[in-house]
Amino acid sequence: MARETRLKTCNLCEAGCGLRVDVEDGRVARIRGDEDDPQSRGFLCPKAFALAEVQEDPDRLRRPVRRTPEGWQEISWEEALEEVAGRLADIQLRDGDDAVGMYLGNPGAHNFGTVAYVTFVRRALATRNQYTASSCDQNPKHAASLYLFGNVFKIAIPDVDHTDFFLVLGANPVVSNGSLMTAPDPRRRIRALKERGGRLVVVDPRRTETAALADEHLFIRPGADALLLAALVHVVIEEGLGRESHLDPLTRGRDALAAAVARFSPEAVTAATGIPAERIRTLARGFAGAERAVCYGRVGTSLTGFATLASWLVDVLNLLTGNLDRPGGALHATPAVDLASLTELVPDDGARQGWRTRVRGAPAFNGEQPAACLAEEIRTPGPGRVRGMLTVAGNPVLSTPNGREVDRAFEDLEFHAAVDIYCNETTRHADVILPPTWSLEHDNYEIVFHQFAVHNFARYTPPVLSPPPGALREWEILFELGTRIAEKKAKGRLAKLGFRSLRRLRGFLHTRRMLDWMLRVGPHGDGFLPWRRGLRVADLLASPRGVDLGPLRPSLVAWLEAHQAGIDLAHPVPLAELERLAAGSPVEDDGLLLIGRRDLRTNNSWLHNAPLAVAGRDRCTLLMHPDDALARDLVDAGTVRIRSRVGEVVARLEVSDEMMPGVVPAARLGPCQPLGSAHARRRGERPREPERPHRRAGDRAGGRQRRPERRARASGGGGALRQRSVELPGRGIEMALVDWGGDGPLALLHHANGFCAATWALLAEALRPHFRVLALDARGHGDTTAPPPEGGSYAWIEFVDDLVALADVLSGETGAPVAYGIGNSFGGLVTAYAATQRPDLFQRVAMLDPVILPGEALMAEMLDALPGPRPQPGRNPRAESARRRQRVWPSRELALEKWSGKEMFRDWDPRALRLYVDHGMRDRPDGQVELKCDPLVEAAVFDATGALDFLEVAPRLRAPALLLRAGRGQFPMVVFREVAARIPDACLLELDADHLMPMHNPPELAEALLAFAGFR
Ligand code: SF4
Repeated sequence: MARETRLKTCNLCEAGCGLRVDVEDGRVARIRGDEDDPQSRGFLCPKAFALAEVQEDPDRLRRPVRRTPEGWQEISWEEALEEVAGRLADIQLRDGDDAVGMYLGNPGAHNFGTVAYVTFVRRALATRNQYTASSCDQNPKHAASLYLFGNVFKIAIPDVDHTDFFLVLGANPVVSNGSLMTAPDPRRRIRALKERGGRLVVVDPRRTETAALADEHLFIRPGADALLLAALVHVVIEEGLGRESHLDPLTRGRDALAAAVARFSPEAVTAATGIPAERIRTLARGFAGAERAVCYGRVGTSLTGFATLASWLVDVLNLLTGNLDRPGGALHATPAVDLASLTELVPDDGARQGWRTRVRGAPAFNGEQPAACLAEEIRTPGPGRVRGMLTVAGNPVLSTPNGREVDRAFEDLEFHAAVDIYCNETTRHADVILPPTWSLEHDNYEIVFHQFAVHNFARYTPPVLSPPPGALREWEILFELGTRIAEKKAKGRLAKLGFRSLRRLRGFLHTRRMLDWMLRVGPHGDGFLPWRRGLRVADLLASPRGVDLGPLRPSLVAWLEAHQAGIDLAHPVPLAELERLAAGSPVEDDGLLLIGRRDLRTNNSWLHNAPLAVAGRDRCTLLMHPDDALARDLVDAGTVRIRSRVGEVVARLEVSDEMMPGVVPAARLGPCQPLGSAHARRRGERPREPERPHRRAGDRAGGRQRRPERRARASGGGGALRQRSVELPGRGIEMALVDWGGDGPLALLHHANGFCAATWALLAEALRPHFRVLALDARGHGDTTAPPPEGGSYAWIEFVDDLVALADVLSGETGAPVAYGIGNSFGGLVTAYAATQRPDLFQRVAMLDPVILPGEALMAEMLDALPGPRPQPGRNPRAESARRRQRVWPSRELALEKWSGKEMFRDWDPRALRLYVDHGMRDRPDGQVELKCDPLVEAAVFDATGALDFLEVAPRLRAPALLLRAGRGQFPMVVFREVAARIPDACLLELDADHLMPMHNPPELAEALLAFAGFR
């Protein structure tokens, strides 16, 4: 069957990147970022590949299963739905509605079918024991919005694309890709901010990936965000830095607020925050003085004892400085389906907000109880005890506090049903698992995350694959359960008949129709008025990349007038919190404070069983400042034990000055956690009984376990490398090669300028199971012939011709062309260029952050955009610094010590640097050592940059080409897009790595290369 490209939105995180999914024979052949997507513009992260992995995963459940004494048994949908509805209804009829609890996990928010149809089940169960993942890290934002704007969904979004001053607290959008801020490719947006002269200030206990891009980074003691924000508000009021705003007539309580923050001067909070008072004042003045500024706080501010207050103060700071409801400040989206308006139209659980949990007496919020109370509500005897549970796309054993206790609690349940595609740490306890279709098999509309988008748009994507016959989508399962439970609980025959009749309407009430209705009552809809033109599903179907509804615009006045009297800065809840804050320090100050840390490859507790998504180096580490490590006699890469009140985990230590002293962040909910997620489970693990011993995630038998052994081989400094040389016919060059062996077709690796073949060792290890891996020393490098640097011997076309000659020799030896030509930096360009010259010699190529100069027009555009004086043509600064490089060293160890501290090598895998020192230097007769690549040769190569016009030959590249841009590199994405657009079969990806990615991040690079070659 012909390959067909279909468009889809990635629904794995809030960014919602646009994808092109190539489908062949009913299966996913390839997933790429959609360059024409107006929001994400081709960006995607490595997690996107998990969409295909989960689709094909043999462990994913496709049919309902029931737990029996003999193990899991497949049953029919009818049997499964009847059993679940019957058992849950029986418990409620016997012990009351609250005897059944329900937990909705984070993946549900990314699925229109779940968000729109879960109400059927919620209303049928009518239990107070409702739990979601929001109570773990998000409700403070909802609460602050409720207190300020009267609705939990009325969350103000930073207008990051138009602001001049972006103040970020406790958020790392470069890694999280935005949270309560749908903004794909935050790195691009931050670059744009800086290019227009804007300023990024990050406040975080760790110098995060976002902080690394900031103009200023302030370390703050964890938990002290509310104090800092109160001090900023204090300075704005005290120094009269506020700005008039159209919201002033609707704002009251300023005096009460001023009085409440009077005691939080910068001087008063300095000790607790760890930030000098003068810097706080400077920050407040800079923020208030900026033309357009916005403060944004996320998870870090939502996980503290004063999280609601901190969230509230973020919006108050924006308001007082005139930046609320203003372009470039904080604005509310006007999505096509407006959850805020819908909840006003259909009040759900608002009336129940006053209740408290049965056991602990913790306050409920927004119709749900804190997930931290779930275990005790199950385990504590007495009226109202939870005896039955329904979990939907959730894995609370892994993702909620004290997972071991939740695990024990689920063992105690009388009945548990789960709507989930895997048997995981929670659903292993279930009596019945109901598996819905996977993301690619159903339609979607990002109903929640359009609400939090930095640009108003609406996109509906149909399924890209057909579900297997008989499969049910999540909405169908929820609709069936809701109507069946309601029927079983209904008192009279008429009511029962009504619910049974409603169930027969399933075919009519499908997602497309439901979405159409929601659109029609939304801000862009026709309101069901026949004479009005409004947005309909048909419009979304006609625009598969979405309908642009314009930038965020001021809209708060209309909302406040329609729904509430105004903004009350003297709201009793936050003011009481300010009192509490004043009463005592929120920061415990003894020992080390443990905080969480986000990683690009983890998605809350999802997907830890998707090898490509979680591939790469061990991220389950604890970071520690060197002073703290020294004080405890701990060393980098050592093992540390982290104990809490309820348990302990062991992690590897990373000593790093990116941490502030006294604070140690561990990977948040990483796969090193004792227990996997809504969609996590260890690959190969079949559904199993709870009685069986509990296996830890780290115990899995997959690649993660084998990695240390592979590393041990690689870390020998390349001592076992097999070297050989090949005379290149007619070129006067004897080329040195490193041969790592392997059984597959040939992969040929070309290093960057100044390096050598041996530095590929770490990557070669990962490729060897699939390829025979060879790497070359280019002319003038390593052990290959080195013509004198003068006389044009290092023109890049010479390297191309060398490579063509070598590939010719090798294909003569093996009887096959090079299956995979891979090159880094200038090696990437040389490889791809060679493949355009001799398409018969290269079947596939990968360019790893290649040095490609843009065409003239693009170059002029880029130079114009650069700050400072225009670079002088012909003066390559890299050549200049190469000429200054020290060639001769007293010893390898001294070179290693010196280079270890250099910024260029700092983030390398230490084994790669060792390889470079061992193999990139040679012994001299005088006992010293010298670089094999003469710095003058390196400079000559740099000087020759730009002589090859790859853009011109790119259309002739017939081999499929992977173009990997280094996310931490310098080359602009615009050039990569231009290159990718000219290559007939190109895949453009970005890797979280620096320019020399084979040495910086070999595990993730290997995964990307293998995935492109079809081995993942
Ligand atoms: S950032 Fe990654 S996980 Fe998130 S939507 Fe984009 S591709 Fe998917």
